[in-house]
Amino acid sequence: MSNSKEKQIISLIRDEIKELSAYHVQEASGFIKLDAMENPYNLPDEVKRAWIAELDSVFFNRYPDPKASKISERLKKQLALSDPIEILFGNGSDEIIQMLVMALAKKNAKVLSVEPSFVMYKMISKFCGVDYIGVDLNPDFSLNIQALKKQIVQEQPALIFLAQPNNPTGNLFYHQELCEIIELSTGLVVIDEAYTAFTEYDALPLLSLYPNVLVMRTFSKTGLAGLRLGYLLGNKSVLGEIDKLRLPYNINVLTQTLAACALDHYHLFLEQSKKIIEARNNLLQRLSENNDYEVFPSEANFITIRFKKINAKDAFLKLKEKGILIKNLDGAHPLLSNCLRLTVGIEKENTVLISALESLR
Ligand SMILES: *Cc1c(COP(=O)(O)O)cnc(C)c1O
Repeated sequence: MSNSKEKQIISLIRDEIKELSAYHVQEASGFIKLDAMENPYNLPDEVKRAWIAELDSVFFNRYPDPKASKISERLKKQLALSDPIEILFGNGSDEIIQMLVMALAKKNAKVLSVEPSFVMYKMISKFCGVDYIGVDLNPDFSLNIQALKKQIVQEQPALIFLAQPNNPTGNLFYHQELCEIIELSTGLVVIDEAYTAFTEYDALPLLSLYPNVLVMRTFSKTGLAGLRLGYLLGNKSVLGEIDKLRLPYNINVLTQTLAACALDHYHLFLEQSKKIIEARNNLLQRLSENNDYEVFPSEANFITIRFKKINAKDAFLKLKEKGILIKNLDGAHPLLSNCLRLTVGIEKENTVLISALESLR
C-alpha cells in the first residue's frame, strides 16, 4: 500500500481512537507472575477430567447454546436467584461493560466512576464516544461522597460503575455510601464484584432493594481468567434490553462446558479462594512489619503498597530483574504516586516477593 493511501485510511479512524494507546500487557514468560490478579492455582484435576469427559458429547460443528442455559441454571441455583432477577453472560466482564455503555450511549449520556479504579470503565466509554466523568477518591481511597453527590446531581449520569472491592486500591467502599449513591442516581448503578471470592461483602441483596442496581461478576479472578466469562445480574426488564446488543453466540462451547463443570465442583474453587485469602492476610501482616512502605487494607487478591523512601519505578524494575513481575501504579493517577500493586501468589511466591522487597532498601 502506498504511504499516502495508508495515511488517508488512517485519517478515517475517529480522532479519539487515534489518541489512545493500546492496552499494554507485560511479557510474562519465566517470571513469578504477580501482576494481573490471576489465581495462582490451575484447574483442579477433577474438573479437568469432568470437562474432558463432557467434551465427548459436544457438537463442535454447531453454534453454542445462545442462552448458555447450563451455566445459567447452575448459577441461578447456586446464588439462589429468583424472579425477576436474570443473568446475562459476557466474554469477560469487559464485554459486559461494553454492552452496557453501548446500550446507554444516547446523545449527551454520561458514564461516571471513581478514580483511581478499573480503567476499562473509562476506556470503553471512550471507545463508544460517551462522556466519562471520573470523581477522585479521598487520599485513603474511600469515596469522596460529597463530590460524588454533587456530580451525580449536576450531570445525571446514565451509568455509574463502582468496583467493590475497588481495583487497584483493594479496599471496600462503605455500604451506606453505596446506598446513598444508588438512591440519588436516576441512572443505572453497576456494582462490579470481580473480587467477590475474597471478601465477605455481597451486593446481591441490593438487587431486590433497588431496581436501578446491576451486579457484575466474573470467573476470571477465581481461577478461570483464560476462559473469559463474566456475568451481569439484574432485573429481567433491564437485562432484556441490554441482551439485545449482545453478539449472538458470544460464549463459546468450550467455555460453556468448562464453566458448567466448574460450577458442579464449585467447592474446589472455594478451597482455592480460602487459601488465597489466608495468603493475603499473611502477606498483609508481613508487609506491615516493614516501615519502608505504607500498606493499604485489601479485601481482594492483591495488595497495594506505597514506598516512603525509594522510588516505585526503581523498585518495580529491581523486582523484575529478580524475576518477579508486579504492577507499577506510579503515574496511573496522582493518588497512586509511588504505589505498587502486588497480586497474592502461593506462599512460596509471596515469600520470594517479601525477601525481594526487603532487599530493596
Ligand atoms: C479484572 C477486573 C475485571 C475484568 O474481568 P474480566 O471478566 O476478566 O473481563 C472487571 N472489573 C474489575 C474491577 C477487575 O479488576
